[in-house]
Amino acid sequence: MKKIVFLLFISASFSCFAQKASISVSDPTKYSNTITSKDLIKHLYTVASDEMEGRDTGSKGQKKAGNYLISQYQANGISFPKGATDFYQKVPADFLKSKSGENLPDSENIWAFIEGSEKPNEVVVISAHYDHVGVKNGEVYNGADDDGSGTVALLEIAQAFEIAKKEGHGPKRSILFLHMTGEEHGLLGSSYYSEHPLFPLANTVTDINIDMIGRHDEFHNDSSKYVYLIGSDYLSTDLYNICEEANKNYVHLFLDYKFNDRKDPNRFYYRSDHYNFAKNGIPSVFLFNGVHADYHKASDEVDKIEFDALAKRAQLAFTIAWEIANRENRPVVDKSGN
Ligand SMILES: [Zn+2]
Repeated sequence: MKKIVFLLFISASFSCFAQKASISVSDPTKYSNTITSKDLIKHLYTVASDEMEGRDTGSKGQKKAGNYLISQYQANGISFPKGATDFYQKVPADFLKSKSGENLPDSENIWAFIEGSEKPNEVVVISAHYDHVGVKNGEVYNGADDDGSGTVALLEIAQAFEIAKKEGHGPKRSILFLHMTGEEHGLLGSSYYSEHPLFPLANTVTDINIDMIGRHDEFHNDSSKYVYLIGSDYLSTDLYNICEEANKNYVHLFLDYKFNDRKDPNRFYYRSDHYNFAKNGIPSVFLFNGVHADYHKASDEVDKIEFDALAKRAQLAFTIAWEIANRENRPVVDKSGN
């Protein structure tokens, strides 16, 4: 009985904080609008081009794609994180082998960083994997949606935060942009990061993970103005509310929770990089458009990407990150995750 009363009291005061905090966070619209189809098109036609050879983990093509990402951060005046010596987190072949059993070459996660102005030690991670499955039988698997779409979304989100910072509206918490390697071989890059975090996991307040946001699935043939959110309420009621509010106030997509159902046989929650944060108790949300006929086929090509939908979903990820980075309290972990 006491416990219940106590819990009710806690949750009532949390929602109070949440309301106060969201009022004090400034309007992200101006910066969200810098995330445009035009820029996404430019980035994705490069990242998902044949020149990148399907970006298989440790391949020459993946490294080339990585160079492009780094060049974009540099062009925007965004550096690698404090405590790192460059834009790479090296993920050794030994580690890749130990986790996957495959003989993969040394590879790299790529990271970029914007330091928070008030709570620099608290870090919001925004992640997307930049590897794909390479070349098979002479065909290049360009992975435009998987996960070229999330990769280029990260570039645009980072640029939006940097523009805001230059105008005096930098994030209060730090933002770590993480381009993961080895996802297609079993979430390897994020597994490595979670075991070798640059910033303590205890200070990592949320992971917003983006994996496939440039297309639509068979359940949304009439409109692509939706996105699946997965996991937002598994660890934190705050995170769920933040996502809902960000969308309702600014982005206006249909948030589809179909795959948030724990009984869903696809088990998407366990199938992308956020899981390596969530399993460590870090509130995590996965933005996803569902699968389609070109999923993991050579036909996952850039000319099939719906750039307006990609831009909207990237704006949602940005707006969620903006709220989390700037609100008074970090999202409270009030659930077990199970
Ligand atoms: Zn993927």
